[in-house]
Amino acid sequence: TRLDNVFQFLEVERKLPPKVSIVTRKTAFREIYEPVAEPHLQHQAYRCLACGNPYCEWKCPVHNYIPNWLKLMAEGNLAAAVELCHQTNSLPEICGRVCPQDRLCEGACTLNDGFGAVTIGNIEKYITDQALARGWQPDLSGVEWSGKRVAVIGAGPAGLGCADVLVRNGVRPVVFDRYPEIGGLLTFGIPEFKLEKSVLARRRQLFTAMGMEFRLGTEIGKDIAIEQLLDEFDAVFLGMGTYQFMKGGFPGEDLPGVHDALPFLIGNVSHHRGYEGLAPFVDTAGLRVVVLGGGDTAMDCCRTAIRQGAASVTCAYRRDEANMPGSKREVVNAREEGVQFLFNQQPVGILGEHRVEGVELVTTELGEPDASGRRRPVVVASSQVTVTADIVLIAFGFRPSPPAWLRDLGVAVDERGRVKARETGDYPLQTAHPKIFAGGDMVRGSDLVVTAIWQGRLAAKGILAWLGLA
Ligand code: FAD
Ligand code: SF4
Repeated sequence: TRLDNVFQFLEVERKLPPKVSIVTRKTAFREIYEPVAEPHLQHQAYRCLACGNPYCEWKCPVHNYIPNWLKLMAEGNLAAAVELCHQTNSLPEICGRVCPQDRLCEGACTLNDGFGAVTIGNIEKYITDQALARGWQPDLSGVEWSGKRVAVIGAGPAGLGCADVLVRNGVRPVVFDRYPEIGGLLTFGIPEFKLEKSVLARRRQLFTAMGMEFRLGTEIGKDIAIEQLLDEFDAVFLGMGTYQFMKGGFPGEDLPGVHDALPFLIGNVSHHRGYEGLAPFVDTAGLRVVVLGGGDTAMDCCRTAIRQGAASVTCAYRRDEANMPGSKREVVNAREEGVQFLFNQQPVGILGEHRVEGVELVTTELGEPDASGRRRPVVVASSQVTVTADIVLIAFGFRPSPPAWLRDLGVAVDERGRVKARETGDYPLQTAHPKIFAGGDMVRGSDLVVTAIWQGRLAAKGILAWLGLA
């Protein structure tokens, strides 16, 4: 890499690592990108124009110091780069893998205007993966332990982001989760072809070494009462996610062979990883699978069914491709792997005598924008078609599912069931109960890994201020 070439972006094209062969991708629950050598990434990093007021940083929900660590990477200073990455992000290697960069940092890159954005996500992943592989650990030797104790409920990205900031500031968090492993949806949701579970195992080791305590397989409200945590700890953070599955509200949804997306994905990862009793394993090998929905969860279901050996996988979505809500990259990946798409097709019923036999769909056109700004699908008269199916997977998204004990404690929720907590004020993300803070999907509604990390980190700052430690 020549650091004196300001026209690097003209000479070096944007290039992501090559993907493994399609034959392997269709069978293996492994990440799909080949490893690449450091000089390649240094060249890619040096394409950055070092914009004076970098818009990529603004669009990144945790406001990573992107041009700064790209420069360190271009100079080969991995040790400084990894430190800088962790100043703003608790799980950089995970965001590098799963963020929808096309809508966030890379979508905002100046070079996106005809030259191809800097491969920010891939470089972020590489910096942290490499540093961790070489034994990097944050240096906490200067931390003064306050003796304060905070309970974190939920070991998803929000809970881990919160615990990371707490431990670096002298508060030892105890993280509770009902599942047997950390990660929340990172482990029990997002499949291995996007994020291998060894990445979470490595994080668990690192976080434990930093001073976090994990009490897994422990459900608050069932195994331990919330009141006990409120007695025992100085503050409590809630990062419990959203787990109520949205339904279509049409006939046939209860037929055998129709499954909700998330239990299907959890059953699959549990089958491969040996977790018992979380969700049944549904095997789609040799079957015709229809997936309803068009977001990240739908793509993950489609690509899981492909790898299980489904005879065919069809994804039906009620808007067009341009209006799909998830990451464009994963739609490309799904198509490459053999998923067939039916756009502008809205399900109106699931057909079958004793078990599912097909899905009835109607054609839609895009009408006026709704409250969210997305154009509303309008049904075209007399446009019914039937698609044959042996298995139907429903991926219509999630609604907040606050437990009853929250309301009993006086924690306020809005009309959609989201816990009310504001990002502004002296104690950001404090709920109506002063000792309880909250963040992630249970506050925002189902969203993204990186926004959950952001809120977890911000809540930790709120807790530190409230405890008089900041
Ligand atoms: P979660 O990750 O849901 O974690 C909550 C944790 O709280 C869970 O571990 C749960 O077990 C625990 N918990 C809940 N109640 C209790 C209790 N009473 N006691 C103890 N523990 C409890 N986002 C992206 O950015 N990119 C993607 O590619 C992407 N793909 C996705 C694919 C799927 C299939 C799904 C479902 C989501 C995807 N998302 C993606 C969204 C992303 O995973 C979530 O926005 C993010 O995980 C939310 O983090 P969280 O910490 O708020 O909640
Ligand atoms: Fe981009 Fe996500 Fe990394 Fe931010 S955290 S720089 S949005 S990949």
